[in-house]
Amino acid sequence: MSSSTAPVTSPSTARSDVVIVGAGIIGLAHAFEALSRGLSVTVVDRDRRPVGASVRNFGHCCISAQDGDLLALAQRSRPGWLRAAAAAGFWAAEAGTLVVARSATEAAVLEELHAERGGDAVRLRSAAQTAEALGRAAGADGDLVGGALLPADLRVDPREAAPGLARWVAEQPRGRVLWGTAVTGVEPGAVHTTRGPVHGDRILVCVGHDLDYLFPDVAEDHGIQRCRLSMARAEAPAGFRTDSAVLTATSMLRYDAFTTRPSAARLREEALGHSAELLEIGANVMFTRRPDGTVLLGDSHHYDATTPPFIDERTYELLIDAVARVLGVPRLRILERWQGVYASSPRGPLLVRDLAPGVRAVSVTSGIGMTLSFGLAAAGFDGTLAATA
Ligand SMILES: Cc1cc2nc3c(=O)[nH]c(=O)nc-3n(C[C@H](O)[C@H](O)[C@H](O)COP(=O)(O)OP(=O)(O)OC[C@H]3O[C@@H](n4cnc5c(N)ncnc54)[C@H](O)[C@@H]3O)c2cc1C
Repeated sequence: MSSSTAPVTSPSTARSDVVIVGAGIIGLAHAFEALSRGLSVTVVDRDRRPVGASVRNFGHCCISAQDGDLLALAQRSRPGWLRAAAAAGFWAAEAGTLVVARSATEAAVLEELHAERGGDAVRLRSAAQTAEALGRAAGADGDLVGGALLPADLRVDPREAAPGLARWVAEQPRGRVLWGTAVTGVEPGAVHTTRGPVHGDRILVCVGHDLDYLFPDVAEDHGIQRCRLSMARAEAPAGFRTDSAVLTATSMLRYDAFTTRPSAARLREEALGHSAELLEIGANVMFTRRPDGTVLLGDSHHYDATTPPFIDERTYELLIDAVARVLGVPRLRILERWQGVYASSPRGPLLVRDLAPGVRAVSVTSGIGMTLSFGLAAAGFDGTLAATA
């Protein structure tokens, strides 16, 4: 029986070395790391299977687009993802990211990144190579100027990775996952749940944006907001078969590897001229292909303390049109739509806060939790992840 459908078991009195609140990718990566180090682990989640940000995203470990400390953490994440995929048996492709350039300025940003990082990390692509990777029909490469393949990036299927990892944790002799068990409070040595206390020596609170329900002062102090994103799944055009994630100019405006290049300011000016509406919805026009061949596409960014449930249809029109244009097709058949939510903060990309002796909260507050997850977990357990102020 899979862990996602397992009957809910009440917590026993057994004490674990580590208790983790939250079975999203941050909690599960920490569980994987702890079990790999021979520790016993209990993961507690209020839901019956992972349904948070970790299953609603692109399944893109977007390593190369990071810069500075985050790049180092993302690079550390990569082997963790590959080990976890091999152990738990979920799909992970070393397929990299294709960044599409459709103007000389976009190409200049990629050339500048290539000059900085070198040809192994950033492989420049011609218009024809980019068109071929996108599976565009012959002659449909007219608006492409070039591109770049960032080979270090990984792809997983977001519908499969966190559930598969949770299943693996539950199957380990020293691992347990308590579903349908909401945590109501935390103190050194114990978490209090709707099914009774769960005891552990070390407690990690990995609840993403919902930190404000458990620790409102900590969340407010870090300026945590909810960022909501519009996403859709579409049928793939006939020729589109790459497992690389595909990023575009609006993506280059959001990730530091690109925003720190000399031509980035010119790129923003240019985008304001031809894509003002996309910038207004905070678009990062990108897409990935799931193993079933369908395409995950998005996204927009809207920030609020509480998420309104309503999605403006214009947001979808803009995103779907933009993705169709990159793929070189007149329209896409949409199969599903959903809203994703993640923690965001103007004060920094991470919240790592020691709340009490042996109790730590870890939330990624920058929308790159898939990318950083296993790096955060490894650094957390070897003691090199400093608490953020
Ligand atoms: C649309 C979208 C696209 C994204 N694209 C990317 C991308 O391309 N690359 C990338 O790196 N990242 C991306 N992200 C960000 C990434 O998905 C998140 O940073 C990451 O999934 C956060 O993981 P998490 O475990 O903190 O949160 P979640 O996956 O939300 O998990 C938190 C868990 O905590 C549980 N929980 C909460 N409160 C309690 C409680 N009181 N008691 C018990 N359980 C509780 C919830 O039920 C949930 O299962 C994207 C996110 C979205 C939404």
